[in-house]
Amino acid sequence: MIENEIKKLRDELNKYSYNYYVLDNPLVSDFEYDTLFKKLQELESLHPDLITPDSPTQRVGGLSTKFEEHKHKYRLYSLDNTYNEDELRKWYERVQKECPGEVELVCELKIDGLAIALTYQNGLFTTGVTRGDGIVGENITQNLKTVKAVPLRLFKNADVEVRGEIYMPKTSFEKLNAECLENGEKTFANPRNAAAGSLRQLDSTITAKRDLSMFTYTAIIEKSDYIPKTHWDSLQYIKELGFKTNPNIKLVKNIEGAIEFCEEWKTKRFDLNYATDGVVIKVNRFDFQNELGFTSRAPKWATAFKFPPEEISTKLLDIEIGVGKTGAVTPVAVLEPVNLAGSVVSRASLHNFDEIERLDIRIGDRVLIKKAAEIIPKVIKVVDSNEHSTLPVYIPPKTCPQCGSKLEFREGEVNLYCNNDNCPSIIKAKLEYFVSKEAMDIDFIGPSVISQLYNLNLVKSPVDFYKLKMDDFMKLELVKEKSASNMFTAIQESKTRPFSRFLTALSIRHVGKETAELIVNEFPTIEGLKAASLEALSNIEGIGGKIAQSVYDYFHNPANLDMIDEFISLGFEFNHNLTEKTDELAGKTFVLTGTLETMTRDEAGEKIKLKGGKTSSSVSKNTSYVVAGANPGSKLDKAEKLGVIILNEDEFLKLIGIR
Ligand code: NAD
Repeated sequence: MIENEIKKLRDELNKYSYNYYVLDNPLVSDFEYDTLFKKLQELESLHPDLITPDSPTQRVGGLSTKFEEHKHKYRLYSLDNTYNEDELRKWYERVQKECPGEVELVCELKIDGLAIALTYQNGLFTTGVTRGDGIVGENITQNLKTVKAVPLRLFKNADVEVRGEIYMPKTSFEKLNAECLENGEKTFANPRNAAAGSLRQLDSTITAKRDLSMFTYTAIIEKSDYIPKTHWDSLQYIKELGFKTNPNIKLVKNIEGAIEFCEEWKTKRFDLNYATDGVVIKVNRFDFQNELGFTSRAPKWATAFKFPPEEISTKLLDIEIGVGKTGAVTPVAVLEPVNLAGSVVSRASLHNFDEIERLDIRIGDRVLIKKAAEIIPKVIKVVDSNEHSTLPVYIPPKTCPQCGSKLEFREGEVNLYCNNDNCPSIIKAKLEYFVSKEAMDIDFIGPSVISQLYNLNLVKSPVDFYKLKMDDFMKLELVKEKSASNMFTAIQESKTRPFSRFLTALSIRHVGKETAELIVNEFPTIEGLKAASLEALSNIEGIGGKIAQSVYDYFHNPANLDMIDEFISLGFEFNHNLTEKTDELAGKTFVLTGTLETMTRDEAGEKIKLKGGKTSSSVSKNTSYVVAGANPGSKLDKAEKLGVIILNEDEFLKLIGIR
């Protein structure tokens, strides 16, 4: 019966809302919540007599009892959602019915954080309140005072209520979760929950320790020297008051402009250091907004275009075991394929066996998977279900699935390891790393080619790549002359890669890109490195005893030395001094942010280093230049604040003498 169906949906949605808003611990993905919500809305619109005032469609958010309640002076509404171009156009048609003609719109990113309202009297911050159910919120003034982006005094003596979204940068969220994991504490499902959980702490000293920020997007002005007439102007006004507003906004002439903006940000959002779940599109003129008014829960003059979901639940079909180049054994989730953020996902990362145990993940569970900035999605939790307790607890393997060796823990590490150097998985993983972008950067040779070359006994060690002839490539599946020639040439061309890259490519334990650079700066030739004493290696700045020992052992293993000799006989020079180094940029520190068109950030970093400069991952007053590509992150904001010189790609290329 329809009544029962509606009741079931309401109960389900209420349970999810409570977990989401009050406990900051969502049980399902936003996409799944929204799908159920839409279904309820549809049923209610067909049976309006069945709408009750407590239906989730009639209210906004949720309220906890942790903090003192605060009645909002002006109600905070939610937003109605749209999911595709069609729905956007229909919304615009409804707008045009009330306000005929072309209606200008403002497009803003929808920040996935926690909505708050801040009251200022005479320019002074007085009260900060969560949105709550839109009518009553929680008074969290003390905690908000610890957030640096919340000004305590404005640049103007205005009486205003400003609304914004408190968020946690993605990198800080990852760091916080890593700390929680280390301390055996509960992790947060996503940056929004981490921001909400951090802000709604009874002890504000905990909030102060968390990296929270805020973007503001609305001001209700009670007293000021200036009253804007459009939303666009009010955003400029908010900035003038001293608030941070999101730079990615656009004023467009009509809905087509808004659709373009949504399309553009569907993928660009992954480059941002904060989570966004859509685009908010608002009618620009305030007189039009007044004309259009509100429904029971949302303004009619705005709509939220929701991006394809970043999180979704699916069934865990199996846990496969991968063995990496270090021998680390990692569990990989095999999933029932689902569409996530625009692509079909059937595998996801499960971190390590400790994490499987902590989350009590069992084969057959429904799990929540998430895709954020990372390319490989991860499993973040088990979705509450009755079935879970009936499934067998997962037991990690005891032996390597590839070679059968006993798996062991290494001291101080969470991973299990296969310690057999001849394990085919380890060898193949090392070969894959050898050709990777970070190492020898050999195009056209991927995991499948490597696997075939290995199985045909053509490549067992990296040096074998350089012995391959055109004919050898022709033995591979589906390979014709053209691609054989591409592979052959790419391999041969890689012979001229800098010594540091080669050293990185060898997969010496604990030696990554940065360490390899430190080593070649001290030992620029292979002969010097082979002869280096353990003491000399540990004396290199930035290299500890563990790394030194690992490098020393590598170059005292006869099999490795034989392989290096073979490389030399094939024409490799291994001389760091041969790479043209200058000191033009000596003393200069660069920070790279955003996507460059002509090269990757790593390549740009290498060019800087070749000219004697340094790179750093964070901006400080000691930074000489910030190079900003497309969609720069928060580093650009920081550079602007600190007055660091900002270069666009063209200016950077000129500086390093490429243009
Ligand atoms: P919403 O988050 O979809 O949209 C309204 C909010 O958007 C505003 O309150 C404001 O805080 C925010 N916002 C961000 N950027 C903005 C901008 N530039 N301009 C204006 N507003 C901006 O609506 P809601 O009512 O807060 O929450 C409903 C959503 O919460 C659902 O769509 C669902 O995705 C999620 N939810 C999920 C669960 C779950 O279990 N996963 C449960 C309940 C709700």
